[in-house]
Amino acid sequence: MTHITNYIDGKQVEPISGAYLDNVDPSTGQVYSHVPDSDERDVELAVQAAQRAFDSWSATPAAERSQIMLAIADLIEKNLDSLARAECIDNGKPLTLARSVDIPRAVTNFRYFATAILHTHSEAHFTDNLAINYTLRQPRGVAGCISPWNLPLYLFTWKVAPAIATGNTVVAKPSELTPMTTYMFGELCTEAGLPPGVLNIVHGLGNKVGASIVAHPDVPTISFTGGTVTGSAIAATAAPMFKKLSLECGGKNPNIIFADADMEDAIETSTRAAFANQGEICLCGSRIFVEREAYDSFVEALVEKAKQLKVGDPLEPDTNQGALVSKAHLAKVSSYVELAQKEGGTILCGGTPPEALPERCRDGFFLEPTVITGLDTACRTNQEEIFGPVTTIMPFDNEQQVIEYANSTKYGLSGTIFTQNLERAHRVAAQVQSGTIWINSWMLRDLRIPFGGMKQSGIGREGGDETLRFFTEPKNVCIKMRSI
Ligand code: NAD
Repeated sequence: MTHITNYIDGKQVEPISGAYLDNVDPSTGQVYSHVPDSDERDVELAVQAAQRAFDSWSATPAAERSQIMLAIADLIEKNLDSLARAECIDNGKPLTLARSVDIPRAVTNFRYFATAILHTHSEAHFTDNLAINYTLRQPRGVAGCISPWNLPLYLFTWKVAPAIATGNTVVAKPSELTPMTTYMFGELCTEAGLPPGVLNIVHGLGNKVGASIVAHPDVPTISFTGGTVTGSAIAATAAPMFKKLSLECGGKNPNIIFADADMEDAIETSTRAAFANQGEICLCGSRIFVEREAYDSFVEALVEKAKQLKVGDPLEPDTNQGALVSKAHLAKVSSYVELAQKEGGTILCGGTPPEALPERCRDGFFLEPTVITGLDTACRTNQEEIFGPVTTIMPFDNEQQVIEYANSTKYGLSGTIFTQNLERAHRVAAQVQSGTIWINSWMLRDLRIPFGGMKQSGIGREGGDETLRFFTEPKNVCIKMRSI
């Protein structure tokens, strides 16, 4: 059974405590590897290694950093099959999804930031012929990068790549539920020639390893993706230390369907938006609002589509939906299905594990795609993030009403609008409170675009120049041109 190790100063090392946590394959419910139960002593070693590496790495020419990062990207691509399989076993997601989305996106993250740093520019301002001001952007030191379990290598590399591209060194913590691909990734970094200490990976629990990274006085930058409650705890620790923070947190995203929409497309895309990755994507459209005249036919068609999704062994090529990430998470999602019923909702499909599962998946954490109607927008089921294959559908009567419904939660991560009316699309997009709005699409991503949430979905934006700026400190240098 694999003993995952920490990656500190370019070496795979045991946790100082010698303690390990079980790592469970969610599709079988069985322990299949062990992950270090690290603590603040391991974080201390990692921070020291990152500090030692900083002077040299930050002074390394961008072209050299770029070459190493491109070599890492090539190695991820070369190992796509084994990484995708590891991601599937760690997380429960379909292998086909890990192969087509998670791992290719990790490659793209590295290629994008490896080449972005070759094309950056800085600002200069002439002050009435008295002075020139220019902005010097410098790496900030050791960055703490904390990532969740739903898109493990994808979101890990989305933070680590821009941090090291800009000359920072990193102490990173992947989720304890999905450590395998980041463990493998450390090896690839060594193979690609990344100098020791530039990236350090400490595995373990959030309240031990994650909290120690956030509280460490020599980690001035924290980039976090995860739940809103965790984000809030991180902010409470980091704010008095004036750390620079990026928080990408939860969502309860509205998916608005006007009656004039291309219905075939709206139904197809809404099914994907609700159930892709078992509904475990922060951007999933988990509250669907349909204009009343189209409501009945939409509900019928969506339920039909949901029933067609094959829930089963994530290793099988025709599986659409795999297992939820853990027993505890399945219990949480199932508790919301019960809550929805108590709140007066009707379960039109799903809500239970699939009846037929292959023998090897008998003890796995599966739930059928679940569609719920009959709830009002203010109930807990429609206000709290469920983060599973569960969506509600509600009718609306007019534009103003649906905008109010959409904005009625504390979240503001993303939203989707389906309509053929271009003016309405722009009008509604401007009024829905969310960091991203997709019109007649979902999860189309351009890595140059600022990405992040409004309200309690987070602070800061990741993507393109925003990220390069986040990981660097702008210093104004003012040169006098003549005496006044
Ligand atoms: P989580 O908040 O429980 O954990 C995220 C990471 O933080 C993990 O590595 C965890 O170990 C660590 N952590 C936990 N407690 C910590 C603490 N006190 N201090 C420091 N680190 C700590 O989230 P999760 O369950 O892993 O992921 C699901 C959540 O992530 C959902 O809410 C989802 O919406 C959100 N998410 C957001 C985005 C986005 O871009 N906005 C993307 C993916 C997931």
